[in-house]
Amino acid sequence: MGIDAVKDVLSYRTNSPEETTALGRALGALLLPGDVILLTGDLGAGKSVLARGLARGLGVTQAMPSPTFTLMQPYRGRIPFYHFDLYRLDDPEQFWEAGLDEFVGGDGAAVVEWPDRAELEGNMTIRLARCEDSDDARLIALTLSGPDQRRKDIEDTLAQWRLDA
Ligand code: ADP
Ligand code: MG
Repeated sequence: MGIDAVKDVLSYRTNSPEETTALGRALGALLLPGDVILLTGDLGAGKSVLARGLARGLGVTQAMPSPTFTLMQPYRGRIPFYHFDLYRLDDPEQFWEAGLDEFVGGDGAAVVEWPDRAELEGNMTIRLARCEDSDDARLIALTLSGPDQRRKDIEDTLAQWRLDA
């Protein structure tokens, strides 16, 4: 990750949980089998809110309960949706021992909260952070690897939330 990578960050701002859900839904509609989306940011940053939006965009209609002790919850959508919350993972080894890697980079889209707990890598990273000027605003910074055309599609789809819009 050099200076070029930094330049490639796509930056967005939402002003409410509903807007974060809407951004997620728009992006979720573009997700493909094999995608691994890492969600980073502090507790309460909005990772789970965004994950629910992504699921909706993927056509998941099931309820998505709030934090449980499940490390991974699968959902059925247009493609399988695997929602990981690794907050309670003590040791990266556990991830592989539990066979959770089977759900990453395969037939569905994997969305991972606290990916550092398993030292996971993805093709998309979304970092969420609170804004100083409002309790309900979030900065959402997206980096991705892959074809330029896909990046362009994502940029077009998310344009309304651009930080500098
Ligand atoms: P995380 O999974 O990162 O720990 P959650 O998504 O569970 O965080 O919680 C985010 C909290 O912040 C929720 O209570 C949500 O209502 C609140 N919130 C306020 N503004 C926003 C916003 N713009 N986007 C997402 N969540 C927001
Ligand atoms: Mg969460």
